[in-house]
Amino acid sequence: MKQIQCKAYNVTEDIVGKITFNKHLLFQRSNYILVGEGITCAHKGFAATVTTAEQIKEVGNPICVIENAKEFNEGDVIVINKFGEIAFVYEISSKHNAIMATERCNHRCIMCPQPPILQEKDKTPFNLHLITLFDKGTREIGITGGEPTLIGDNLFLLIKQIQKHLPKTAISILSNGVKFADKEYAMKLAKCFHHDLQIDIPLFSDIAEEHNRIVGAKTFYKTVQGLYNLALFHQRIGLRIVVHKQTYKRLPQFADYIYHNFPFVSQVAFMQMETIGLAKENIAELWIDPYDYNEQLREAVLLLADRGMKPYIYNAQLCILPEDIRCYAQQSISNWKDIYLPECEGCTLRGQCAGFFASNREMHSQYIKKIEECMSCD
Ligand code: SF4
Repeated sequence: MKQIQCKAYNVTEDIVGKITFNKHLLFQRSNYILVGEGITCAHKGFAATVTTAEQIKEVGNPICVIENAKEFNEGDVIVINKFGEIAFVYEISSKHNAIMATERCNHRCIMCPQPPILQEKDKTPFNLHLITLFDKGTREIGITGGEPTLIGDNLFLLIKQIQKHLPKTAISILSNGVKFADKEYAMKLAKCFHHDLQIDIPLFSDIAEEHNRIVGAKTFYKTVQGLYNLALFHQRIGLRIVVHKQTYKRLPQFADYIYHNFPFVSQVAFMQMETIGLAKENIAELWIDPYDYNEQLREAVLLLADRGMKPYIYNAQLCILPEDIRCYAQQSISNWKDIYLPECEGCTLRGQCAGFFASNREMHSQYIKKIEECMSCD
């Protein structure tokens, strides 16, 4: 998530609040953080005040000094800690807002961008409050981790809280699916009766040992059982495959396996790898120029598409994809970490292209080249 630094005064513990520029706000001020240019003292009743003023009067309430207020939008939700770090936990203009259910995980994937931690304070009370601060017009909220099912039945509390406060909002859960091998747990998810919920599950190979090696746990058959249980209860499922040196060769066989074994999944996403966290540590074993797996990717995508399934390509640059599969590419990188390179200057596809993870600035395909004429892939 986006983070900026401020000078914080009177911040003794984490403060969470929704951004407003309206200093005359009357109701529920304690849920809001007031932002303004040139405010010189903390306004009463607000959870905190954020200002660009160089001189401030300290009156005991939390106040933070920033360089400019342009980073903030009315309706964003931020957390300020005592070190003056401001984390944007919700951005009103983003399509990729998510709740981090837990940072713990029962897998240790070799390319995990966010390595799990072993212990933490229960995040559920904080998350339940956070949901009440999100804008009612939010199109979709992700529930992610770590592995969100490790919070057990609290996952269903989060779903119900979203249903209550954001009744029109879709939910997307990113889970390794292992916990859904427990049929009762899968049934509990179904019993939330959410009107628009998708559960996305990563699977990395059609060979159990390969998948297990990549996730660092012997869980292939549990994930497969989880997929069947979720299907049994008519849950909408997406499959996710991160493509790297250890997964690209069998993409066509894997796609065939998916078609034969999981014809019920609503989509299959082939994802270019983000090179941070464990992916960075293990880069020598993982990196392949995405251009060099085009042949296998194309075959897998077209195999699924020709058989009536819905393949997608996430995090990919259009200029390196074969033209006939460009239409499966999605704008999938969160705004705060999405960048373009100098090579993209003047490219006619820039508005449609996913661009790059900021962390892939150095590690990207050698074949990036601006496209001067707009080509379609139909
Ligand atoms: S040049 Fe840049 S913007 Fe254009 S298709 Fe390639 S990566 Fe995307």
